[in-house]
Amino acid sequence: MQRLRLGRVGDAQPWLSGSLNPGRPARGTLCILEASPPGMHRPGPRVLLVEDQHDIAANIWDFLERRGYEVDHCADGASGLQRAREGGFDAVVLDLGLPRLDGLDLCRLLRDAGHGVPVLMLTARDTLDDKLLGFAHGADDYMVKPFALRELEARLRALHRRRTPTDTPPRGGPLAYDAGTMTAHREGRSIPLTRLQGRLLDVLLAEAPRVVAHERLLRAAWGNDAVDIAALHTQMYELRALVDKPFDCPLIHSVRRVGYRVVVP
Ligand code: CA
Repeated sequence: MQRLRLGRVGDAQPWLSGSLNPGRPARGTLCILEASPPGMHRPGPRVLLVEDQHDIAANIWDFLERRGYEVDHCADGASGLQRAREGGFDAVVLDLGLPRLDGLDLCRLLRDAGHGVPVLMLTARDTLDDKLLGFAHGADDYMVKPFALRELEARLRALHRRRTPTDTPPRGGPLAYDAGTMTAHREGRSIPLTRLQGRLLDVLLAEAPRVVAHERLLRAAWGNDAVDIAALHTQMYELRALVDKPFDCPLIHSVRRVGYRVVVP
């Protein structure tokens, strides 16, 4: 199965267009731009975009992908929460007015579950109380529509920079992962990981000591691409060779026919 990506044909717009900025009409039409082959490793920070208006989502998606970001999109709050909980994202760009689950509630539920991924809220609600409400629900940053897409990217970069190892408390005891530098930390050693390995470890640490199913690990690492489970086992073998093999005690364990988990003795 191939992963089809939805985007906008035409030049990237520096401003959001369509209903939010009627002075600048949308250019092009929504269409399928390209298909990525299964298992393709795409570089760049990974952003989850939760936005129900397709013209806005397509503009943001197109703009960020042209600048090397990898964008996953959900068009309602419930599926956005589920994808955010699966982990592996460097930031979440979150609309507030969403079907099925409001953006504020999504952010609160994400924080209640202990997820620290940076969240940038997008909304047309522009009073001070609205902004304070957003921060009270766990937002890291807040932008009022309409806004310049270049500013959105600058804010994402700033959020990414701020996510230093000291901002990310070690999870899983002696084993920690810093998504900002794609580095695992164990017993004083820094271990650079590939993006795929980092995503897998990030999810395993977030859920430790619970077992994470093969299917969820596949989604977290490869997104919506259908990848053979053998590719997952290969990545996990390489990950364990890096973060377990040089040390006395293995922390990553395979649960036969179910998944993997991190267990700290
Ligand atoms: Ca909306």
